Amino acid sequence: MVEQEATVWSRICGPLEAAIGRDAFTAWIAPLRFRSAENGVAQFGVPTTFFGNWVERNYRDIIVALMQSEGVLVDRLSFDIIGHGRPAAVPAAVQGLEVSAPVSSGLSMAAANHPAPAPEPVRAPAAAAAPEPELPGSPLDPRYNFDNFVVGKPNELAHAAARRVAEGGPVSFNPLFLYGGVGLGKTHLMHAIALEYQRQFPGKKVLYLSAEHFMYKFVQSLRFKDTLGFKQIFRSVDVLMVDDVQFISGKGSTQEEFFHTFNALVEQRKQVVISADRAPGEIDGLEDRIRSRLQWGLVVDLHPTDYELRLGILQSKAETHLAAQPDVQLASGVIEFLAHRISSNVRILEGALTRLFAFAGLVGRRIDLDMVQECLADTLRASDRKVTIDEIIRKVADHYNLKINDLLSARRARSVARPRQIAMFLAKSLTSKSLPEIGRRFGGRDHTTVIHALRKIEELRQTDSGLAEDIELLRRMLEA
Ligand code: ADP
Ligand code: MG
Repeated sequence: MVEQEATVWSRICGPLEAAIGRDAFTAWIAPLRFRSAENGVAQFGVPTTFFGNWVERNYRDIIVALMQSEGVLVDRLSFDIIGHGRPAAVPAAVQGLEVSAPVSSGLSMAAANHPAPAPEPVRAPAAAAAPEPELPGSPLDPRYNFDNFVVGKPNELAHAAARRVAEGGPVSFNPLFLYGGVGLGKTHLMHAIALEYQRQFPGKKVLYLSAEHFMYKFVQSLRFKDTLGFKQIFRSVDVLMVDDVQFISGKGSTQEEFFHTFNALVEQRKQVVISADRAPGEIDGLEDRIRSRLQWGLVVDLHPTDYELRLGILQSKAETHLAAQPDVQLASGVIEFLAHRISSNVRILEGALTRLFAFAGLVGRRIDLDMVQECLADTLRASDRKVTIDEIIRKVADHYNLKINDLLSARRARSVARPRQIAMFLAKSLTSKSLPEIGRRFGGRDHTTVIHALRKIEELRQTDSGLAEDIELLRRMLEA
C-alpha cells in the first residue's frame, strides 16, 4: 500500500512540475519527502516549518487534486520536520488560501455566526444551449452584486469600470485589470460583473474563476491528456474573469497557458477581466510579455478605504443585520467609532459588525461602545498596531536594494538620497514621531533636513507617478 502511494507520488511529480514550472518545483516540491497518505492526509517531511507553510499555502490544492486524480483520497497535507521526526503542525491560519489578511482568529468564529445564512452559491453559468460542456467556473455569491457594493472615492473608478464592462457594450478596454489590497472588494466587483452580465445576456457565456482554479483545471487537463478540450472550453467564452491572477506568477506552463488563452480571447474581442493584489508591474515572476499585455487595457486600482467609505459600508451592513435581528439596538456613535478605529480591510470591518450582532443576539444586549470594547478587544488591538521607524527603514532599504547603513549615511547620491527622503516621509505619515526625533533616527540629521525631505516628496508625488506608486506600495506593505 505504502509502496503504491510512493509510486503515485512519483507519478504526479511530472504534471506538478509542468504546472508550477521547473523553478518552483525545484525550490519547493523536490525537497519534500513523501511519507504516507492515510486517512485523508498526505504526510511529507520538510526542512523547516516555514517550508511546510509555504507548500501548504501555495501548492496544497494542486497536490491534493493530483493525488485524487490518481485515486488516492487525500484532502489535507501535513508536515513534519526532517531530522526532528516531530510533526510540525501547520497553523490553522494557513489552511485557507487567503494570504495576507491580518485577520484575528476571532473573526472566523464571528463569520460562522453570521445572522443571515448565505444563500446557496449559484454555479457560474450554464449557457442556454444544453449540449455545451459545463463551464469550469467557480461559484458566484449572489450577495456580491452591484446593489450591495458601496461606492466611495477610493473605489469609484473601479466601480465605474466594472459597471461599464457589465453593461456589455462594445469592448472598449481589454482587459480590465482591477487591483488592490486584501479585502477591498475585488472579488465582490468581479462577481457583480458576472452576475449582471448574465442577467442581461443569459445566452452568453461568462466564466469566472480564481487563478488557482484555472491552474487546477489546466493541470487536470494535462493529467487526463485533454489540453485540447481545455483550450476549447476557455476559448469559447464571451467573458473570461480570472481572480487573484498573482497566484500564477512563477508557475511556468500555467502562466504560459493563461497567456495564450488571454491572447486568443482578446483577439476575438471578447472581454477579459483580471484581478490581482497588486499592479501588473509589481507582480514578481510574471513574464514581461504577459505583464505588458495586461497593461494594454484599463488598469484601475481599489484604494484603501477612507473614513467616509467605511462609514457607508458599515451603515449599509448594519441595516442588513438590523433587518435580520430587529430586536437588537444599535447605540449612536458605534458605527462612527468602528469606521474610525478599524483598518481599511472591509472584510475585517464586516467581521467586526457580524461579531457584535452575534454577541448582541446571544446576550440580548444593546450594542454600545462598552460592548464594542469588550467584544472586539483583539480586533481593535490589531488595528492599533503601530508602524515603527525601524520597520520603515528596513522596508524602504529593501525595496530600493540598499543597505540600511546607506540609508542612514551622509551619502547624497540621488539613488540613496531619494529613498531616504521617502523613508522620512513615511516615518512622518505613519508614526507619531516628531520631526527632530525622525531626524535623529536617520543618522542624526537636523529637523530642517526632514522638513526639506517632506516638501520634496510631497512635490514629487504630484508629478512622478512612479514615485507616488512606490510610496503607496510601501505604505500598504507597512500597514499590512
Ligand atoms: P478582495 O477580493 O479585494 O480581497 P472582497 O471582494 O472579498 O475583497 O471583499 C471582502 C468583503 O468586503 C466582502 O464580503 C465584500 O462583500 C465586502 N466589501 C468590500 N468592498 C465593499 C464595498 N465597497 N461595499 C460593500 N461591501 C464591500
Ligand atoms: Mg478576492
